[in-house]
Amino acid sequence: MKLREDLSKSKLRHRGDLPGVYKFKSIGDMNEQEKALFAKLLYYWHTDGIHLECLCKDIGPFPKLHVRESSAGKLYLSNNPGTNRGDRAHNFQCELNLPEEGYKGYLRQKGIDISEDGEITCNLKKPDKRKAAEDPQEAKIGGKTKNSSGSTPAAGENALRFLFLTLLQESRPGVHVYSPGRRREIHKRLYYTLKKTKLNKVKLNDSDFYIASSRARYNFNKHRIAIFWGDKFAHPAVDSPSNTFTVNLPVFSIADPSEKLQDISILKSVYEAATLTGRAVGTGYWVLYREENKAGKLIDTELIFEPAEPVTGIPVESSYEAQMIRRLVSEKREFKKPLIGNVTELFLAHRPDMVLLDTNPETIIEVAGFEDDDYQTRLASKREKYLERGYRYFQWDVKIPLEQLVLPPMK
Ligand SMILES: [Zn+2]
Repeated sequence: MKLREDLSKSKLRHRGDLPGVYKFKSIGDMNEQEKALFAKLLYYWHTDGIHLECLCKDIGPFPKLHVRESSAGKLYLSNNPGTNRGDRAHNFQCELNLPEEGYKGYLRQKGIDISEDGEITCNLKKPDKRKAAEDPQEAKIGGKTKNSSGSTPAAGENALRFLFLTLLQESRPGVHVYSPGRRREIHKRLYYTLKKTKLNKVKLNDSDFYIASSRARYNFNKHRIAIFWGDKFAHPAVDSPSNTFTVNLPVFSIADPSEKLQDISILKSVYEAATLTGRAVGTGYWVLYREENKAGKLIDTELIFEPAEPVTGIPVESSYEAQMIRRLVSEKREFKKPLIGNVTELFLAHRPDMVLLDTNPETIIEVAGFEDDDYQTRLASKREKYLERGYRYFQWDVKIPLEQLVLPPMK
């Protein structure tokens, strides 16, 4: 009885269109209280065998769900194995896809596995630059493409980047989603995501990683992963005055990108080999990965810079995308930008699209920055395919000033 009262007071669910049917908030959108309440509900559903469906799509039939118990004794929503095929498949980006389906299946090809209860497993190998140079295609996708499974090591130049983007997207709520009025607190989201990550067979705990905020300090002897904010143009590393093999790299807070916290010392060779991307955006995340040497001491192994828009912390491919994000934020729009995979299984090899979530139907936003014919042909095909799928399609041709653009109205 208490549960029913709590439920009717909460915003966890609302009545659906049919009698006796309720719609629940997505797990990524729940606050701590709602999560606690939801955990009680899972228990009730688990014992009573309640019929559940995933509403990740606009049109049915919907994928079937049931409540399962993890090896750690935690209850979670799971697929009904075998039935969610064809028409009943989840949306490509739905978090409840099985590890081999949807964007999770795409990630598995890159050596990153996300289990049904949300644990992320990745075996990073030291980047092999020589091999990457011989086979740029393989380097680009970060591992073997054919017949691969979760056990494939995520080798190649982009493996660490794929892992980092996965961590952002798998955070709850996902960093790639922007909801007006909701605090970003990306350092906290990353913290909880890293706590359910297994890296090279090591289940990470607090002492294994550093996420820059005023409450944490980098520990050279302990941290395998360090994530901090920076600006590769305005605040590059400087040579160490006392050690010719190291540089000092300014560390800014993930919690507040305007706050400089400290300089950290990084192997000069690792800094110089950092995969910086050619993107013209200076602000973003530094991610430092460190492995044990033969003596069991952690040493700097790989560094990447992932350009991102500073207000939202959402990674961007170009300064135009950053501008579009700021425009959407200033107009209090709700949107997402998939970081791993694309909105659907289409156009996976291309830049991910942004999606306006507050229009009906949802609107794909394409920032069109190039003029060559191939690109224009592809955009035309994108538009057609997305319209076929029931999305709206909206294109910003960057020759037109952004302020002249009128965004699709909210529903
Ligand atoms: Zn779903």
